[in-house]
Amino acid sequence: MTTAASPELRSALLDTFATMGSSGLNRGTSGNASVRVGDDVSRPDFLITPSGRPIEQLAGDDLVVIRDGGTFEGSLEPSSEWRLHQDIYTAYPSAGAVLHAHSPFATSLACQRREIPPFHYLIALFGGTSIRCADYATFGTQELSDAAVAALVDRRGCLLANHGMVVHGRDLAHALSLAVQFETLCEQYWRTCQLAPPTLLTDQEMAAATLQFARYDELVRRP
Ligand code: 13P
Ligand code: ZN
Repeated sequence: MTTAASPELRSALLDTFATMGSSGLNRGTSGNASVRVGDDVSRPDFLITPSGRPIEQLAGDDLVVIRDGGTFEGSLEPSSEWRLHQDIYTAYPSAGAVLHAHSPFATSLACQRREIPPFHYLIALFGGTSIRCADYATFGTQELSDAAVAALVDRRGCLLANHGMVVHGRDLAHALSLAVQFETLCEQYWRTCQLAPPTLLTDQEMAAATLQFARYDELVRRP
């Protein structure tokens, strides 16, 4: 079976990857982005950016389709992190798009291998009371993918030790908004730590924020 990736989906992925660059999340050839194609949850097909190409050089036809657990369709090599993207789609059926960045504040914290605690209620956006840092592994390896999938249990984003960050959302727009929030939280955490260790929210306060979010999310999604 050949997987169709429509021109519209290709264009949406390119736009998202371009916004990651223009909003400062990625520079040069750092980072990558993908979007799920079709709805086979156990063997996800997806469209991903090619390896080693800056966004300015990319056209829709340069994107690569990955299907059947590792068959590539396209004229360029897929991102070296295709396993990371594939394993996130397989482990987390709610993931419709996956974005990976070396954004400055997230990467600075990832180099400290720190978990980000509940210093701000928006940590709840990522599904829990902290943002974990995945163990270090060489980029582009199965080990890195395994470490990230483990750090993403009940979460929509994590730091990658000495590397960067990864988030997944229900679609490209959601994933992009999470990536921007992720980097903003990392910056705010870094800044507040310059003053003194921040006062952390309690489990109860985070639970209340999570409840509020369910309502807020409904508002955001309303057409
Ligand atoms: P690719 O250009 O292969 O996507 O690699 C960029 C990257 O961030 C590797 O971790
Ligand atoms: Zn990377």
